[in-house]
Amino acid sequence: MQAAREPLTAAPVANLLDFDPAGLAAWMAARGDKPFRAKQVSRWVHQRFAADFAAMTDLARDARAALAAQATIAAPAVIRDSTAHDGTRKWLLDAGNGNAVEAVYIPEDDRGTLCISSQAGCALDCAFCSTGRQGFNRNLTTGEIVGQLWHANRTLLAEGIRAPWVQAGRAPITNVVMMGMGEPLANFDNVVPALRTFLDDNAYGLSRRRVTLSTSGLVPWIERLRDECPVALAVSLHAPTDALRDRLVPINRKHPLSTLMAACVRYLERAPRDFITFEYVMLDGVNDQPGHAQALIALVRDVPCKLNLIPFNPFPGSGFATSPRERVRAFAHALQDAGIVATIRKTRGDDIDAACGQLAGRVHDRTKRRLAARIPVVAAQ
Ligand code: SAH
Ligand code: SF4
Repeated sequence: MQAAREPLTAAPVANLLDFDPAGLAAWMAARGDKPFRAKQVSRWVHQRFAADFAAMTDLARDARAALAAQATIAAPAVIRDSTAHDGTRKWLLDAGNGNAVEAVYIPEDDRGTLCISSQAGCALDCAFCSTGRQGFNRNLTTGEIVGQLWHANRTLLAEGIRAPWVQAGRAPITNVVMMGMGEPLANFDNVVPALRTFLDDNAYGLSRRRVTLSTSGLVPWIERLRDECPVALAVSLHAPTDALRDRLVPINRKHPLSTLMAACVRYLERAPRDFITFEYVMLDGVNDQPGHAQALIALVRDVPCKLNLIPFNPFPGSGFATSPRERVRAFAHALQDAGIVATIRKTRGDDIDAACGQLAGRVHDRTKRRLAARIPVVAAQ
């Protein structure tokens, strides 16, 4: 007599990092679990950073075994882990098929910030950005996005990080910025569930003010973000006129400054912060002249905002140079004199290429069709 066979098709294994709070509740409910179980499991995964079900000691033994058969808790694998002189730390993470993305931890006196990637590469091809230079490969999954925060918290805790807020019982990462590789709003369907997990009280429990999404200006998705998950918004401006922005940020040819400014004003109707952060990378001789400052003042006049001036971080073959310090200061003063809050971003982690725009990972461009090539310049009015 033959022994009974195992069924040939096993139930698909879910990665719990892929679920947003509602998704986890639905998945657990479909297994016959009560809603409080989903919250319990969420706390194990996102607050205690459990990597396997055996650790979940307040679940019955057979419940743990059943979960282990149907689910996993899997963050992207670390390819390289480097720490800069200033304490900034960069994890290079495997995105499969020879692609890699980066997550950057920026420690400060009163907070720990994690800069998170949303795509392997980026199709938007901004002229001064090394991520844009490599082209686009694919969107990260929700699990790969949440996995960056899960991994950073887990690793820093395991290493015994000493920070006052950790001593007080909070997680090492207190602030998240979606400013790593990729355009987060171009991966809206995977990014928003990740944001919901960052905000959820049974997961990371971050307030909306501590979660910032930076976009190059995808106007229709700014509107959707406002309606679905209005976290703090940063907009990469970089130029005060359409003519110049068309060259630096090619998506401007599709969504010019007038529509972008209008979208920013509408965003603030729902936003947790009462201002937009405008990012402005300072490029020597390109966008850093007194006339640019005056045009910028006129442009943002009707938008409650803060200006964050970013010294350009060079990379080989960029064709741009960093504005001299004095010019950056003069630019900031011109804005301040007009009553605009303007700060100069401190460059962090540049000795390990972890500064803004230096995140390159390694991406094999699947498209070879970058935005700049697809949108004709004549479309700009
Ligand atoms: N795609 C999104 C978020 C990622 S880029 C966006 O463009 O907003 C995060 C910030 O770094 C953006 O403001 C971007 O314009 C800026 N940046 C890109 N390359 C840079 C460079 N080489 N030096 C300084 N800042 C750069
Ligand atoms: Fe993409 Fe942002 Fe880089 Fe532009 S600056 S290419 S939108 S990652």
